[in-house]
Amino acid sequence: MRRLRNTKIVATLGPASETYDMIRALHEAGADVFRLNMSHGSHDEIREKHRIIRQIEKDLQSPIAILADLQGPKLRVGVFANGAEELVVGADFRLDLDSAEGDVSRVCLPHPEIFAALEPGASLLVNDGKIRLTVDSCGADHANCKVVIGGTISNRKGVNVPDVVLPLAALSEKDRDDLEFVCGLGVDWLALSFVQRPEDVHEARELAQGRAALLSKIEKPAAVEAFEAILEASDGIMVARGDLGVELPVSHVPPIQKRLVRKCRSAAKPVIVATQMLESMIESPMPTRAEVSDVATAIYEGTDAIMLSAESAAGDFPVEAVSTMNNVAIEVESDTNYREIIEASRTAPNSTVADAIVSAAREIAETTEVAAICCFSESGTTALLVARERPRVPIIAMTSLRGTARRLALTWGTNCVITTEVSRFKMAVVASARAARELGYAEEQDHIVVTAGLPFNVPGTTNIVRVAPCDERLIFNMEKE
Ligand code: PGA
Ligand code: MN
Repeated sequence: MRRLRNTKIVATLGPASETYDMIRALHEAGADVFRLNMSHGSHDEIREKHRIIRQIEKDLQSPIAILADLQGPKLRVGVFANGAEELVVGADFRLDLDSAEGDVSRVCLPHPEIFAALEPGASLLVNDGKIRLTVDSCGADHANCKVVIGGTISNRKGVNVPDVVLPLAALSEKDRDDLEFVCGLGVDWLALSFVQRPEDVHEARELAQGRAALLSKIEKPAAVEAFEAILEASDGIMVARGDLGVELPVSHVPPIQKRLVRKCRSAAKPVIVATQMLESMIESPMPTRAEVSDVATAIYEGTDAIMLSAESAAGDFPVEAVSTMNNVAIEVESDTNYREIIEASRTAPNSTVADAIVSAAREIAETTEVAAICCFSESGTTALLVARERPRVPIIAMTSLRGTARRLALTWGTNCVITTEVSRFKMAVVASARAARELGYAEEQDHIVVTAGLPFNVPGTTNIVRVAPCDERLIFNMEKE
């Protein structure tokens, strides 16, 4: 599916987007990656969405990434005798391990590890931060709190504990079960919620056994602090602004977003900016000006991807939301300011051969009139390096591995073509020229830049850059290679 922009779009699927026709319409409108939220929906529902996406991929012959988002250690209160209670400012409220139904004075918080980690003065945020409690005193099985910001508390509302690094396993029983299930189905990316430390990512990697790439959601202050190590351990990052803006003052989120996006680009790992990007489009066919501006800002920062949550999963205008993102991306990317920002924030290549080759490919593309950069990349690593350069011409990643092509659907500017394995450089050039023409990026009279590694099919060998014609008669006349 040819796109007229480089920034990728992730659309979360849900009740508003579960049929073949709707999911296909979302893909055609611009969704490159579909997110399956494991916090909602049964395994049967997930299996069905997965089947539909793979069918669309087959019908349209275009690689699509599937991102399974694991719920993670989300804390929840128990239930109330009346279903809900009103907490007023200044009141006392107790959290404990007693499974009895709650009332206006107490409720169960069925997580003993939390009580062990809490200290007087710590804040507890309930229901997306709408209610704030502070701990007065606490013990092994309870915490006596004061209501600082009141509101309605109801059954199983979520609880955030921003000030404390929780001694919680990164993956709950449910997460392990979900991970096995989705890896069995075959997904390209696993998103890990509430990552706190690099070890959390290592643990998931053990379980995933190479079956999916790992994306860490940055939504805890501890993850912001340990970001470098978490990035190192992960294959990609999500700036999960929803929970991040609950755990930290919301005013801290934009600078963190900027910092994280830059660090991911310089590490050549894809980053998604997520949550509330077009929130008003859940109910309205038109976004607010501020939302459009937010989407534009993420694109100007050079993010790989922007994400829709409830807008596409449960809203009334899923296709319109995708189209809005698509249109904003096209507009921003054609602004000369965008190129200036992207180029000013490019980091120097590392001192490896592959880095030197891709940086040369980009320079060639910018000083001559080549139509595209085609890179042979089995594992996808070279394609990530090319994408980090953020070149002005389209990137075509050539791989024989369907999994690589799908994973790269999340990466800035990367179009993937699945090739048969090539053994000679001339064949690589022929395949690249054909791909560039078929994708509509080049005509017969154009030239392309091709990067590859000789000998072929040895990972991590990118060592050749070549300007080649797109005309096959000319390619066959090239010297014997
Ligand atoms: P969620 O993650 O939608 O799974 O909570 C994203 C976020 O917190 O922003
Ligand atoms: Mn979250």
